[in-house]
Amino acid sequence: VIEIRNLHKRYGELEVLRGVDITAPGGHVISLIGSSGSGKSTLLRCANLLEDSQKGEILFEGEPVKWKGQELARRPADAKQIMRIRTNLSMVFQQFNLWSHMTILENVMECPVTVLGRDKAEVEQKARMYLDKVGIGDKCDAWPAQLSGGQQQRAAIARALCMEPKALLFDEPTSALDPELEQEVVRVIKALAEEGRTMIIVTHDMKMAHDVSDHVVFLHQGLIEEQGDPATLFGAPKSERLQQFLSHTT
Ligand code: ATP
Ligand code: MG
Repeated sequence: VIEIRNLHKRYGELEVLRGVDITAPGGHVISLIGSSGSGKSTLLRCANLLEDSQKGEILFEGEPVKWKGQELARRPADAKQIMRIRTNLSMVFQQFNLWSHMTILENVMECPVTVLGRDKAEVEQKARMYLDKVGIGDKCDAWPAQLSGGQQQRAAIARALCMEPKALLFDEPTSALDPELEQEVVRVIKALAEEGRTMIIVTHDMKMAHDVSDHVVFLHQGLIEEQGDPATLFGAPKSERLQQFLSHTT
């Protein structure tokens, strides 16, 4: 579904991504690990066009979503393309970013109704279904501030699902949560993986990466240092940097 080829991204003098290739075939879960500043969030942000990149290609279902040297948002045709990409690659952030002035149900319904123009009654039915699925069907009428962090993150996942995207991108979905709340969210992500959803997950949770991924990518200073299936990568890391990285995590 998503193919990233030779991606380069620079902020001024700082080269954040220096030629990264990642393929996430349909139904696969890819985890992205690496130390702080290695470029993980930048990669996700480039993949759904929150950032422009300088070199390389991103293909979504075989179609290029970025053209070298052009700033996408400036042209109307590109704005449409960006919408299509963001709709199909829903992103879940570390800080859940729920709209505080809307109820949980309204949060989940907002984009499908206002951005995609879908039928309100149908969206409401789906929103309730997704909220049930993540285990907070009873919180429809609550305000975000009335929910625990784990519940808010699950609401954010329901909101992403309600866009009915082709793939989900997670940027450290559990790192703002206390350990016990973290597990609620990990369970939801595991269930999504078992359903065969295509996901790219940036995480510092090595256990989750081990349990849910088909493929794990270790990023180091903007390059892929090592990658492989989780059993091999975690069980027998080859590179010294990965060994060192894993020795600092639990
Ligand atoms: P973390 O684990 O801390 O979230 P990360 O791997 O997600 O780290 P990125 O957020 O991708 O790292 O950042 C990679 C590098 O790019 C960092 O050195 C960061 O300071 C820099 N950077 C990120 N965003 C910007 C920006 N908008 N402008 C300038 N530099 C940036
Ligand atoms: Mg990050």
